[in-house]
Amino acid sequence: MATVIDGKATAAAVHERVGREAAAFVAETGHMPGLVTILVGEDAASQVYVRSKGERCKELGMASFHEGLPADSSQDQVESAVARWNADDRVDGILVQLPLPGDLDSKPVLELIDPSKDVDGFHPVSVGRLVANQPGLRPCTPAGVMELLRAYEIPVTGADAVVVGRSDIVGKPVALLLLHQSATVTIAHSRTRDLAEVTRRADILVAAVGRPEMITGDMIKPGAAVIDVGINRTESGLVGDVHYPSASEVAGAITPVPGGVGPMTIAMLLSNTLQAARLRRS
Ligand code: NAP
Repeated sequence: MATVIDGKATAAAVHERVGREAAAFVAETGHMPGLVTILVGEDAASQVYVRSKGERCKELGMASFHEGLPADSSQDQVESAVARWNADDRVDGILVQLPLPGDLDSKPVLELIDPSKDVDGFHPVSVGRLVANQPGLRPCTPAGVMELLRAYEIPVTGADAVVVGRSDIVGKPVALLLLHQSATVTIAHSRTRDLAEVTRRADILVAAVGRPEMITGDMIKPGAAVIDVGINRTESGLVGDVHYPSASEVAGAITPVPGGVGPMTIAMLLSNTLQAARLRRS
C-alpha cells in the first residue's frame, strides 16, 4: 500500500514556520504582514473560504482585513476597491475571491492588483516571473503540490512528471514548477491520445482535471507519487480526480481527498503573504 501524503500535517508544519517567521519579521521591522480578502456577493462557500483565511491569518500573528461588496456591484466599484487596497500600506497581500458573480470580469480586476501584493500569483507579472523562473509569488495550489513533494522527499530532479490538466491556475503552473526543479514534464489534457499510456510513464503524476476518480490504478506506474488536486462533490461525498482505492494499491505515495492538496492552498497563501511583506520591504 502507498504512503499516504498527509496534507493536513504538512500544512500545519507550514503554518508553524510562517507563524514563527512572521513574529521575527514583526520584531525586526515593526510591521505586521497583512492580507485583505475581497468578496463580491454572498456565495456561502466563498464566505467560508474567506472567513477561514482571515482566521488563520490572525492565528499566525498577521493582520487580516476584509471587504465585502454587494453582488450587484459594478466593475468600477470592484476595481476601485482593489485600487484602494493597493494604496494601503498595512496590506501586503490582496486576494479577490473567485469566481466573481454576474457579468463581472475577473481579468481586469486581477490585472489591477499591485504585482507586489499578488499573493494568488495570477497577475501577468507573476506569471511571467514563474515562466522565467525569477523570484516571485507563485500560485498557492501549485506551490502546495511542490511543498508536499518536498516534505515527503520525493525526488523531482530527472523524474518523469505527468500533469493531467492545463489550466492557468493549476496545470500550467504546476508543470512549470516541476520543470524548474528539473523534472521531465509532460502536460496531458482533453485532447491527449491514449492518456493511460502517458500517465503510466509518470514517476510523479499530478491530476488536475475536475473529473471524479478518472485516474484509476491501471493508469499508474507502480511506485509512482500521485498528487490529486481534484475536488469533486458527488452523491457519495467529496472525491478527487484519482480513484483512490485502486490507485493506492499501485502508487508508492498518494494524497487523499480530502486532506491532501486542499489544506496546502491556505498554508501557501499565508506563506506568500509573509513573502510579499518581505519583498516589499527589501
Ligand atoms: P479546469 O480549469 O476545468 O481544467 C481542467 C483541465 O483538465 C483542462 O486542461 C482539461 O483539458 C483537462 N481535462 C478535462 N477532461 C479531461 C480528460 N478526459 N482527459 C484529460 N484531461 C482532461 O480545472 P482546474 O481549475 O485546473 O481544476 C482542476 C481540479 O482541481 C478541479 O477538481 C478543481 O476543483 C480542483 N482544484 C483544487 C484546488 C485545491 O485547493 N485543492 C484548487 C484549484 C482547483 P482541456 O484544456 O483540453 O479542456
